[in-house]
Amino acid sequence: MSAAAPPAAFAPRYVSAYLRWSLWALLVALVAALLVTLVWLAGRYEASQVQSKLERDTADALGDIRAAFTRNVQTLQALQSGHPTTASWIDESARLLREHREWIRLEWRDAGLGTRAFADSPYRSPPFARLGRANAQPDVALACANGRRVSGPAYSSSYFLPQLDGLGLEVMELCLPQVSAGQLTGYVVATYSLSEILAGLVGPQLMRSQDVSFTEADGTRLALHGTARRGNRVFTSQQLLDLPGNTMVLRMDSWRGAPDLFPNVLTALVTAMSIALVSVLVLLGKDTRRRLRAEQDLADALAFRKAMEDSLVTGLRARDLQGRITYVNPAFCAMVGFTPEELLGNTTPAPYWPPELAGDYQKRQDVRLAGQHAPPREGFESVFMRKDGSRFPVLIIEAPLINHHGVQTGWMSAFLDISEQRRVEELSRASQDRLQATARLATVGEMASLLSHELNQPLAAISSYATGSINLLKSQLAAQAATAGHDAGGGAMDAMPDIEVAMQRIAEQAERAGKVIKSVHDFVRRRDKEREPVAPLALLDAIMPLVSLQARKLGVRVDIRVQPGLPTVLCDRTMVEQVLLNLARNAMQAMDQAPPAHRSLVIEARRSGASAPAGAGKGWLEFSVADLGPGIPAEIQRQLFTPFFTTKAEGMGLGLSMCRTVVEQHGGFLGFEANRPQGTIFKFTLPVDPAISHRSS
Ligand code: ADP
Repeated sequence: MSAAAPPAAFAPRYVSAYLRWSLWALLVALVAALLVTLVWLAGRYEASQVQSKLERDTADALGDIRAAFTRNVQTLQALQSGHPTTASWIDESARLLREHREWIRLEWRDAGLGTRAFADSPYRSPPFARLGRANAQPDVALACANGRRVSGPAYSSSYFLPQLDGLGLEVMELCLPQVSAGQLTGYVVATYSLSEILAGLVGPQLMRSQDVSFTEADGTRLALHGTARRGNRVFTSQQLLDLPGNTMVLRMDSWRGAPDLFPNVLTALVTAMSIALVSVLVLLGKDTRRRLRAEQDLADALAFRKAMEDSLVTGLRARDLQGRITYVNPAFCAMVGFTPEELLGNTTPAPYWPPELAGDYQKRQDVRLAGQHAPPREGFESVFMRKDGSRFPVLIIEAPLINHHGVQTGWMSAFLDISEQRRVEELSRASQDRLQATARLATVGEMASLLSHELNQPLAAISSYATGSINLLKSQLAAQAATAGHDAGGGAMDAMPDIEVAMQRIAEQAERAGKVIKSVHDFVRRRDKEREPVAPLALLDAIMPLVSLQARKLGVRVDIRVQPGLPTVLCDRTMVEQVLLNLARNAMQAMDQAPPAHRSLVIEARRSGASAPAGAGKGWLEFSVADLGPGIPAEIQRQLFTPFFTTKAEGMGLGLSMCRTVVEQHGGFLGFEANRPQGTIFKFTLPVDPAISHRSS
């Protein structure tokens, strides 16, 4: 892996952070777009409200103008009625002109359009003083021709009339033909000032916030009336004012400011919603950040807990109240050799229970689950089975599993593999045994020194007396054979060879006893023992004469069984023979009260299944001596190997103690067990000659 590449574990984090941020950006963009759209729509709605109000105002203004025009036509008709004189017409006209500022001149014209009388508006200087009325004659003529044609009022198109003060005004002529008895008698011509029409005839409320003007169809402004401009947004409404002979556009401009921030409820609502939305977004963002932090903390805590559980050497297991396994830690799995998948959800019997103990464990668990007995606080020992079938001792400490509501949801157990502890205990027990053996040896040693000292003398004496007796017998036999007759001592002479043999035996046994004592003496003195390879059968053969002798005496049947093909054992021959002899004698003595049919002694040699201790040869032979005696009561069993313990009147109580010491000195083990159906079997092991076991392997 290159150093620059980020660790693979971080990649998904980057991706998810990137994704999260892009989602947030998208959300913010969407909300912004929504807000802009809402504000724009609200503005549009408001503008359309303003526009339609303007349209209504324009229509109202147009209505006002039309109504005023109609009323004015009626007023002019009234002026002509009743055959006025020129003077009265002028008076009446002057009055009308005071009332109607929109008129700047009224004229009474005859049928040939000649002016009979006229009156000017009192509100301004004579309007035609600068240009001259004749200039407007074509407009008047056109209007009157139209009026004549439609037999009613007609208007001229507007024209600009310069004034003396340098300014000017846009005016329009109204011509009203006068017909009397079907004959045209003349015309009334009224000159309208367009700006005064706007100022006087349009309701003032309509012009409060807007300009009103007349324009031509192409937009050229003819007259304008209005207030000062405010704001910068222009709403415009145009409607056609079509009069007979003239068509103008009435236009209204409203200088409404751009929509205020809170121009109406809708915008206020939208704004409030937007603020709420943004606040919610901010809160959501904060909450998400907090949650992310909490999640991170939780993940850290979980990782720490897992690391802790994984590094524990103590096995942990949780079970629910039904006894199902709900949790195991790696140490427990390593201990029993099963994977968590194989263990979780398992009920009884658990896969790590040794089948032979499953019944007991089941009972224990039933008691535990029934809540009858709390587990011991200091824990208890048990035996578990690994997946490979091997057993191992464990220390179990159990406690109820209480959740955060204080309710028990199961059981939590901790396990310690105590095989190692057991091994150490075993070692110390073995060394204890060795110490005891040494102590025994010391006792036996003292005894042996004493005995060897005390017995060697009499044994030597016995031996020499026996030898002396044999010599005496021999010389006696030779002398008698030479001097006496055959008849004289014939009976004594016949017994002589037997006595000689018996004497021979006495000498042999005395020598053997001497050897035994010497070897015990050597043995306890820890001199180098002479170990030699001996065939098991040879050992048994050596003791057979003495065993048979005693067997015959006690009426015991002796059975020797030697597994064929046994290797030789490496041992101190005399001592081992002594052990066998001792055991056989004990066995036979144990059966002296038994019915003769039950007096059976079995001495057996075979291969042992015991594993060799370190440093010993590759195999073991087991020798056993079985009897059908009464067996050994428990209280005697405890003291069996104690030196000088005996139940026999003439017993020494040293036999078994010596036997065990001898066997242990060879590295073997001597023990006993009950024989079936009755009696006792004493067994001991001896190492196979290493040279043999190497050869055979
Ligand atoms: P001793 O034979 O001199 O009594 P041992 O050490 O050989 O000393 O034996 C101790 C005791 O063990 C005996 O007194 C006897 O009670 C008991 N014992 C030994 N072997 C047997 C046996 N095969 N059956 C029953 N008891 C036995």
